[in-house]
Amino acid sequence: MGQHIKYCSECANYTLKDKCPSCGGTTINPKPARFSPEDRYGKYRRLMKSQLKES
Ligand SMILES: [Zn+2]
Repeated sequence: MGQHIKYCSECANYTLKDKCPSCGGTTINPKPARFSPEDRYGKYRRLMKSQLKES
């Protein structure tokens, strides 16, 4: 836990390292820090739940 997936700006390879293991390029965080994947999926889960209730 606590590791952030990063992605190579050179070859688009995903890695946890600061440097791409394939090409040695600089890796970047693909997502803005203010959004977490959990929040995004939680939003969709709540949306689906409310739709299920109505139908
Ligand atoms: Zn790379």
